[in-house]
Amino acid sequence: MKNYVIALDQGTTSSRAVLVDKKGIIQGVAQEEYPQHYPKEKWVEHDPLDIWNSQINMFRELLETKKVSLDDVAALGITNQRETTILWDRKTGEPVYNAIVWQCRRTADFCQQLKKWGLEEKVQSKTGLKIDAYFSASKIRWILDNVGGAREMAERGELCFGTVDTWLIWKLTGGKVHVTDYTNASRTMLYNIHDLAWDKELLELMEIPRAILPEVKGCSEILGMTDKKVCGAEIPIAGLAGDQQAALFGQMCLGEGCVKNTYGTGCFMLMNTGEKPVHSENGLLTTIAWGRNGKITYALEGSIFMGGAVIQWLRDNLGIISSAPECNRLAETVEDTGGVYLVSAFQGLGSPYWDMGARAGIVGLTRGANKAHICRAALESIAYRTREIVEVMEKDSGLKLQSVKVDGGASRSNILMQFQSDILDTEVVRPASIETTALGAAYLAGLAVGFWESVEDLKVIWAEDRCFEPAMTEKRREELFAGWNHAVGRCLDWEE
Ligand code: ADP
Repeated sequence: MKNYVIALDQGTTSSRAVLVDKKGIIQGVAQEEYPQHYPKEKWVEHDPLDIWNSQINMFRELLETKKVSLDDVAALGITNQRETTILWDRKTGEPVYNAIVWQCRRTADFCQQLKKWGLEEKVQSKTGLKIDAYFSASKIRWILDNVGGAREMAERGELCFGTVDTWLIWKLTGGKVHVTDYTNASRTMLYNIHDLAWDKELLELMEIPRAILPEVKGCSEILGMTDKKVCGAEIPIAGLAGDQQAALFGQMCLGEGCVKNTYGTGCFMLMNTGEKPVHSENGLLTTIAWGRNGKITYALEGSIFMGGAVIQWLRDNLGIISSAPECNRLAETVEDTGGVYLVSAFQGLGSPYWDMGARAGIVGLTRGANKAHICRAALESIAYRTREIVEVMEKDSGLKLQSVKVDGGASRSNILMQFQSDILDTEVVRPASIETTALGAAYLAGLAVGFWESVEDLKVIWAEDRCFEPAMTEKRREELFAGWNHAVGRCLDWEE
């Protein structure tokens, strides 16, 4: 009997390895940040070898510091930053270019062109996505068009494309396995989420050769074995999901209508919509939540680019706080924002607006406004953006939100969570462990190898830390939200 599964959690700023025991309790974490590259304004890249080295080093460090033998590891689960795009030489394993990160906007003009050609409806009906530079397709095309020889190599079948999961599995298996899973495939803008196949028409439209694409697998099955030379032993890689989907699973949002919101750098709210993909009329994404045991579960997703990052902006760019907890302490010194709103459209606004020309603003300032009001407005902005998502999610799905399970760094903020509950008029439930992304990947892997028998074993593991109940009058709530809408109106469509 083996005692552990390990989750590899490859995030945008750091790589983590997480040791999970049979009780679903995290027994150890190794984490390392790795370099970000900004070669031009609005461009974001990672070196694929930094991604790999930091990830494998954290795996080794975790084993060493926790004194865990590989014989005691039942399986590996992987979860990853989504959409980030890597192309490498199938023979040598050498990347032909840096990883183009999900945040990178270099292909925004091309995506605008696709919209002008009237392709939005077609793309949404096949992939569930809005046409946007955020997804992998236009990033792949950029590499093929801009790296010397890449297109020819791709056409000869000599290149592999992968999102970060695919790249890690390729490296972990010593170049033997080229796969991804439904969740990551569903973020490429090339995958038909109804037919469950790479879409020929979109591939032609984007001029991407089929030969570079990985095989798409389930999220909870053996995808390959680690190479002994690389990892020290052959361990099944048995769980895989993009970070937000892994968090949905880790939060045990297994039933239709269950919702989680992750308050990390950005905020990502996902609603499990069961076996049917719900088409959004209101700027949400339709995506695959997971595929396991031959069944696909779908989700609606709302993406907010600036979540906890707005607190970092107060700290690093304005310098009015020295840490995130200080933001909470200051915000607590005032009863309300005194009419101040901070609209965090620093990178445009995602769902439900998808207005890339929107820009941030702090409005409603009076002579009496001070940094405590701004801190409070920054925290509240995260909650208001979430309410905007919830409103359209309810409309699209026809389901009424019962409660929201929360996780991510900024879910530690009690003042934010209480305001979130107030402004949504819904209970907000924070679990004992907010490491739900890693847990989701570990659970998917453990289920595949019989480490856990069924999800019933896992449901009993999930434990609540605190439930925030709404305590605001209807009148106040709607007044505040009307003020927010007024403020957003000032920030939309600011740049071309
Ligand atoms: P990611 O996985 O996207 O890197 P995390 O889940 O680690 O993000 O969360 C980091 C974010 O959480 C940061 O943007 C930070 O500002 C915010 N954060 C961390 N601790 C707190 C806190 N106590 N109160 C409010 N925000 C916080």
